[in-house]
Amino acid sequence: MICFCQECILPDTRPNLEIGEDGVCTACFSHRTKESIDWPGRVEAFREIVEQAISRTERYDCVIPVSGGKDSTWQVLKCLEYGLTPLAVTWRPPGRTELGQRNLDNLVQLGVDHIDYQINPSIERRFAQRAFKLYGSTAIPMHLAIFNIPRVIATRFDIPLIVWGENSAFEYGGAEEGRMAFLLDEEWIQRYGVTHGTTAADWIAEGFTAKELSAYFGPTSTELHTAGTRGVFLGNYFRWDPAETATIAESHGLQRRSEGPRTGYYAHTDIDDAFISVHHWLKWYKFGFTRLFDNLSLEIRNRRMSRDDALSILEELGEQRPDGDIAAFAQFVGWSVEEFMDHAEQFRNQAIWVREVAGWRIPGHVVSEDWWR
Ligand SMILES: [Zn+2]
Repeated sequence: MICFCQECILPDTRPNLEIGEDGVCTACFSHRTKESIDWPGRVEAFREIVEQAISRTERYDCVIPVSGGKDSTWQVLKCLEYGLTPLAVTWRPPGRTELGQRNLDNLVQLGVDHIDYQINPSIERRFAQRAFKLYGSTAIPMHLAIFNIPRVIATRFDIPLIVWGENSAFEYGGAEEGRMAFLLDEEWIQRYGVTHGTTAADWIAEGFTAKELSAYFGPTSTELHTAGTRGVFLGNYFRWDPAETATIAESHGLQRRSEGPRTGYYAHTDIDDAFISVHHWLKWYKFGFTRLFDNLSLEIRNRRMSRDDALSILEELGEQRPDGDIAAFAQFVGWSVEEFMDHAEQFRNQAIWVREVAGWRIPGHVVSEDWWR
């Protein structure tokens, strides 16, 4: 049966999250450990990494993988503040929104060179369709692209450092929190990269040639070691709070969605790609939670909201199925909405979902009966 953290509202079905015997999840536990972190010491450590990178090259000091959202705006601002000369790199999502493009243009205006890397749309379409059929995921091609394109560019351009934003392993409590600057190798990506443990090579058996998948391959381990490119997560050096990065990004020109959140609780996240909401919504079938659970849990941990208030907001906003974005994604891969929903249904996790006379529900869930109607 599904089990929820007693401090936040995340379930133990969330990948890479565990709930301890005290009823507290690894994300809440990890958040508590932030209180005792010597943040000024971490900032000093970051400064040293910056100095090493600058001394190692006459050209770009770092690659910043960016989407154009609030975190990437914050990453760019931090890198510029510390004197780095960055090359910003974007994987251009097929569902990029107009607002996403405007925010990306704004980010470049902050003062960085930028590569907007676009993959052949017909390959993306076939890959998205295949990945969805096999794993019920819209995000495998996206994650392979966003992790590998920046690593390839960094190693081939001889750029010593890659500056990522949030460390998902740290925020959600994996074993990686002690790792500071490191090689972001295949092993890390397979474990934390949300690719269902696959690499580009695994997709060759699925009707693609290696050449068609060129953009999704990372550097070889020899290339990675020869170039000595290291990765850092800014979240390991500066206290990462999405509300704060949003405020900073907005004071530097980032625009939020005027019509409110695309999904979840924040109008300043998930704004650059129309398909991201489909990825988030699928977690409802697969893991029994939605983007709202993630966002509200962050609010609870940062003490801006009580757990009871979060539960009330869940009731008020409900499942938030992104029908418009689902229709757009279905059209992108060449399906009707019904076909999409039929495929999605295959991934309803029957270890937690039970079919009753009135329809599907998840026993032991924190939401009220209204959610199941
Ligand atoms: Zn928790």
